[in-house]
Amino acid sequence: MDLFEYQGKQYFSRFGIAVSPGGVADTVEEALSVAARVGFPVVIKAQVKVGGRGKAGGVKLADSEDEVRTHAGAILGLDIKGHVVKRLWVEHASDIAQEYYASFTLDRPNKVHLGMLSAQGGVEIEVVAEENPDAIAMLQIDPLVGLDVATARRWVAEAGLDEAARAQAAELLVKLYTCYVEGDCDLAEVNPLILTPEGKVHALDAKVTLDENASFRHPEWEEYRATETEDPREKMAKEKGLNYIGLDGTVGIIANGAGLAMSTLDVVNQVGGSAANFLDIGGGANADVMAAALEVINTDPKVKVIFVNIFGGITRVDEVAKGVIEALGRVSITSPIVLRLDGTNAVEGRAILAPHLNDRLLTEPTMLDAARRAVAFANQ
Ligand code: GDP
Ligand code: MN
Repeated sequence: MDLFEYQGKQYFSRFGIAVSPGGVADTVEEALSVAARVGFPVVIKAQVKVGGRGKAGGVKLADSEDEVRTHAGAILGLDIKGHVVKRLWVEHASDIAQEYYASFTLDRPNKVHLGMLSAQGGVEIEVVAEENPDAIAMLQIDPLVGLDVATARRWVAEAGLDEAARAQAAELLVKLYTCYVEGDCDLAEVNPLILTPEGKVHALDAKVTLDENASFRHPEWEEYRATETEDPREKMAKEKGLNYIGLDGTVGIIANGAGLAMSTLDVVNQVGGSAANFLDIGGGANADVMAAALEVINTDPKVKVIFVNIFGGITRVDEVAKGVIEALGRVSITSPIVLRLDGTNAVEGRAILAPHLNDRLLTEPTMLDAARRAVAFANQ
């Protein structure tokens, strides 16, 4: 689960990592009151879970109430890479002498934690990695050993951080590492980590991804879940125990197993269509699950056709067929449905469906035929 910047900063604070004083605001009025509390100048920042907000006009400095009104008004409702801004973070603006980059993440192949530190912060780390890879000091950390201040001091020197920043940065990095490990993060990133002209080091941005496998020991994560800006269909699917991801195309896809779902996306693309979603009903899906899947897709106005691609293994095709019929009885499915049913109990499944087939509910013998038929409907 990704956190908003303001949540990431709150998370950092718990581990003693220095951030600027600030507050959230959902309206211009609230932005004004936070600005009055933290003191001018302030920086007004769009809270969306996507990087590059600065470049997209989602980060603005304000010196006065008028400027807060102008910028807060402009940023609320702004569309940044498909994310509409509903909330702002307003904090006391910092003077910046230097911008650095720091992060911890998992180095899976090497079974260690990976720290990345650079004196070239404030820009996308991918760009630094591409153009000047030597500017990133990588540190592999054995999880059984951890990161101590002495190691962090060598690391900040190696990365070429300014002398004035080194001692504080080393301490901050140890805290960030603790946050990453004890806070069960998949990623804890600070970009930029700044040195102010007064010689203070602190985090100006926060990007935190929590490891949801650890959520059982973090009841406090519930508050982050509450603000997760989820697609309503993704939410509905989650409630029904389905794996659903919304996409931009017009062919709704239901398949059993992530592998088959992905292959189905490929085949749909191959024959000139585009997927409206990725919906994996999993192994052992029964009639209820199938009916729920159809209901979820049915609420997507982009969908022009539903392609059901089932290769029965543990999942029994006759159960799937029953689910389709059950769904048709429960809700009026607006799109035509093309089915490819194969594998366990496919013969029984097709027999169950046979009396219900018509020009808007049809079966095809192979995945490719079914994809072609579905895409023909979608492109009509
Ligand atoms: P991002 O573009 O989504 O990564 O958003 P950031 O929070 O990193 O902000 C983008 C840029 O805005 C930073 O790299 C800074 O250059 C600038 N910025 C953010 N906060 C402040 C601030 O308090 N003072 C000043 N002077 N610049 C800031
Ligand atoms: Mn940033």
